Amino acid sequence: MTPTPKDESEFKVIIRGVRGSYPVCGKKYLKYGGNTTSYEVWADNCLIIVDAGTGIINLGHDLMSLYLKSGSDVESRTPIEAIILFSHINIDHLQGLPFFSPIFLPDSTFYIYGPDFSDYNFEDAINSAISPPYYPISMIDMYALKLFRSLSQDEAIYWDSKKGIPTVVNTFREFERKKQALKNSSIQITCMKSYAHPNEGVLIFRIEFNNKAVVIATDTEGYVDGDTRLINFSKNADLLLHDAGYVSQVYKSLNNCKQGFGHSTMEMAVEVAKKAKVKRLGLLHHEPANDDKVVDAVEKKSQKLFPNSFAAYEDQKIIL
Ligand SMILES: [Zn+2]
Repeated sequence: MTPTPKDESEFKVIIRGVRGSYPVCGKKYLKYGGNTTSYEVWADNCLIIVDAGTGIINLGHDLMSLYLKSGSDVESRTPIEAIILFSHINIDHLQGLPFFSPIFLPDSTFYIYGPDFSDYNFEDAINSAISPPYYPISMIDMYALKLFRSLSQDEAIYWDSKKGIPTVVNTFREFERKKQALKNSSIQITCMKSYAHPNEGVLIFRIEFNNKAVVIATDTEGYVDGDTRLINFSKNADLLLHDAGYVSQVYKSLNNCKQGFGHSTMEMAVEVAKKAKVKRLGLLHHEPANDDKVVDAVEKKSQKLFPNSFAAYEDQKIIL
C-alpha cells in the first residue's frame, strides 16, 4: 500500500511532464508545461510511474505531503510504494530521479523496471548515469528500497494490491494461466519493444485494470501506413498516449529534417489511434521549440482527423 490521494476514481492517469529532450520555462509554455516526460498512473490504489523526467519531481512533493499526513511519526505513517517503469533512460526520461523526494525515505519501496542495453544491464546503466561527477550523490545514497529488474517484451508484470509485491511473468509460458486466475482483481502491465528510436529502441507499456487499458508510447517514430506492431499492441485501448514531438513540416523539411530521430508527428499518432480503434488519443513529448501556440495548432488539426484527441498538458488528469 501507499498513501493515496482522496479520489473516487479507481483508474486514472495524471500527466506530470510532456516535454521532450530538455525542460523549458517561460510565458510561451504555461499552458502545456515545461517539465520532461513522466506519467503517474493509479489503479486499484496502486501507483505506477512511467519515466522519471523532471515531471516526477512535483509528483514526489505531492507524495511526500500524503506521506506526512498519513501519520504523526515514522512508525505510524504509510510507506510510499510504487512501480517505476522506464521506456528507456535517455536523460529527459531520467533526470528527475535524483530529485524525487520519496526515493530518500528509508521506508519507501520502488520496483524499478526498464530495458537492458547491449553494453549495460538496466540497473548498471542507471547507477552509472546517476553518480559523481555528474551528480553529487549515487543511487546508493538514496535510502529507499530499490528493486531493479530488466524487462523484455515477452515479459509482463502483474500487481495485486492485496498480495503486495509485483510479479514478473513470461507471457508465453505463464501469463495466460495467471491471467485466468487473477481475473479482474489485478493490474497487468505488458510491454512492446519499439525499434523506432535510435540506438537501443524503447519499451512501450500497456497498463490494464478492470477491463480498461492505457498505452504509453513515447519516443517512437511512425512507419509508412502505421506501426503495425504498435497498432496491434494498442488495440481497443481506452487511452493511447503517443509521441507527437514534431510538426510535420519540420519533420520532413529539407534543412532541418527530423526523419530517423525516433519521434513521431501528430499524423503518425492519429494513424495508429484510428487503426487500433482506441477511444482517446493524447499527444505528447512536445518538442521544446513547440510553444503553446504551436501545440494549440497541432491539437486543432488533430481533432479534425481524430475528434477524440488532445494535446496532453502538465497536471492533466484523465479518468479511465
Ligand atoms: Zn525523450
